[in-house]
Amino acid sequence: MQNLIRQLAADMVASRYAIVLTGAGVSTESGVPDFRGPKGIWTTNPQAEAQAYQRYERFLNDPKAYWEEMLGTVGTSSNFYQEMRKVEPNPGHYAIARLEHLGIVKQTITQNIDGLHEKAGTRNVMHYHGTVEKLRCLSCGSRFSVDDYSLEKLPPLCRCGRPLKYDVVHFKEPIPSDIMDAAESEAMKCDLMLICGTSAVVYPFAALPAIARNRGRSGVRIIEVNAEPTPLTHQGISDYLIQGKTGEVLPLVVDEVGRLMGWGRPNTQACTGLSPCPQFSESHRPDTAAEKRSSTLAANHPKAPGFGVSASPSSCLIGARASVRFRCPSGG
Ligand SMILES: [Zn+2]
Repeated sequence: MQNLIRQLAADMVASRYAIVLTGAGVSTESGVPDFRGPKGIWTTNPQAEAQAYQRYERFLNDPKAYWEEMLGTVGTSSNFYQEMRKVEPNPGHYAIARLEHLGIVKQTITQNIDGLHEKAGTRNVMHYHGTVEKLRCLSCGSRFSVDDYSLEKLPPLCRCGRPLKYDVVHFKEPIPSDIMDAAESEAMKCDLMLICGTSAVVYPFAALPAIARNRGRSGVRIIEVNAEPTPLTHQGISDYLIQGKTGEVLPLVVDEVGRLMGWGRPNTQACTGLSPCPQFSESHRPDTAAEKRSSTLAANHPKAPGFGVSASPSSCLIGARASVRFRCPSGG
């Protein structure tokens, strides 16, 4: 496996536009239950599954009843989405955020509704199946943070006056066209697609790797990090599979990427992207070329804020000031 991790790190560093696709496998390591696994929510509670199939129709017919059901104020549902918002990211999420902050990953497209990529510090996230962090208007397409609504008066209303639903895409509900178009365009544009924790069998999300593959083998590398081989592996859509848990494999990839980029071995834990990266110390020095670039910038902009320090980062924040290219992986 070590060879494949080195291979993936090398492929990532060589890429110009890498994107990441993620599925349930990334979040189950944070304790988010899956739906159809052996201990899945629907496997253990078929009634909940039946209810889930009715949810979209329920919203269309009676938005207030939909919200009462979702918030667990009536019926047998619990306040599942609000509970989900309390879950924390795991090292797999942090590793993906770190790869974005390093300038390698340009876009993350997730099937997961839990919002954990953002919590881990990833900025460019497309929620293919929506997110529990937002509400969406089916009429005008606007999205709002769920925190902006008290949810005391139901249903919550959009600025256009129409009722809002959770952004989460329910059964029988079409994928929002803005997300679908944007995701397809990413699949057309990327030169590396990293697929993590998804068996890639739920369409239309599962079509994204095939869209990329149809561009030809030389145009794009497609790599899987999955617990088991998937249809993408069997059909030869992916170039190779690294078999394992994303929370274990991806931090090793980040380590290797850091090594290839000329730094020490970054510790990949607890990089939230919301505060200075605690591990980004003297061992994480930019390479010589970057130091030269930074020095040139400093010379050309002697009074410009941020360039008046030596290009010898001794901490994450100083590193961020000293070099544009080599910003703190936490984004600090
Ligand atoms: Zn609206």
